[in-house]
Amino acid sequence: MKAYFLGTGTSQGIPVIGSNHPVCKSIDLKDKRLRVSIWISWDNYSYVIDCGPDFRQQMLSSDCQKVDGILFTHEHADHTAGIDDIRPFNFKQGEIPIYAHERVIKNLKQRFDYVFETVNKYPGAPSIQTNQVINNLPFTIGNKLVIPINVMHGNLQVFGYRVDDFAYLTDVKTIEKDEILKLKNLKVLVINALREEPHNTHFNLKEALDFITLLQPEKAYLTHISHNMGFHEEVQKTLPDNVFLAYDNLEIDL
Ligand SMILES: [Zn+2]
Repeated sequence: MKAYFLGTGTSQGIPVIGSNHPVCKSIDLKDKRLRVSIWISWDNYSYVIDCGPDFRQQMLSSDCQKVDGILFTHEHADHTAGIDDIRPFNFKQGEIPIYAHERVIKNLKQRFDYVFETVNKYPGAPSIQTNQVINNLPFTIGNKLVIPINVMHGNLQVFGYRVDDFAYLTDVKTIEKDEILKLKNLKVLVINALREEPHNTHFNLKEALDFITLLQPEKAYLTHISHNMGFHEEVQKTLPDNVFLAYDNLEIDL
């Protein structure tokens, strides 16, 4: 299995529009971060987690040829606003399955009502087949089992996903003990870390590193990163040996 980081930025992306912050002005490509998303593939299977506003650009730069399904973590726009751009995959493949919490599916039906239209639907509109994700109920994508991980993003429930010994968690601020038990013996953990300063709804760097120390994965990659985290190269030097700041277009073997 391979994981390809499509985007590793927080909701505004880096550079932030109109910002003169040094990280936003950096010429290092590792300091350019699209909205957060990851592409996992194995055998002939190909899935993405989240579909934010940079989805089109991400599919072009990664040269992703097909999407067998989209797993959504939650409904915030930086994770969902790219849905209209699944159309090229619809035209090649037909309906795309999505996997999400019932609340998220309901939210998408309101915001993208034309996608779910049953009467006189515009022929070029995206086409989606919905699958409800329920906590403590693993489900199958391709020939692999996915374990949903229930986490909290402030007051909002968010799903992380575990596939084999890989887990992808974003927008975490708190997590219950029972959910932590689902994250034992990971080879690779992807976890959000916004910046050094604390934040109400996101792990800061220290919280992410403490979480990694608790779980002891072989390797951990940090994502959902704000420009306030600092320059990629400088922050990376401060991290433990098995912890990496992810960056856009990074591909890892799982
Ligand atoms: Zn987010």
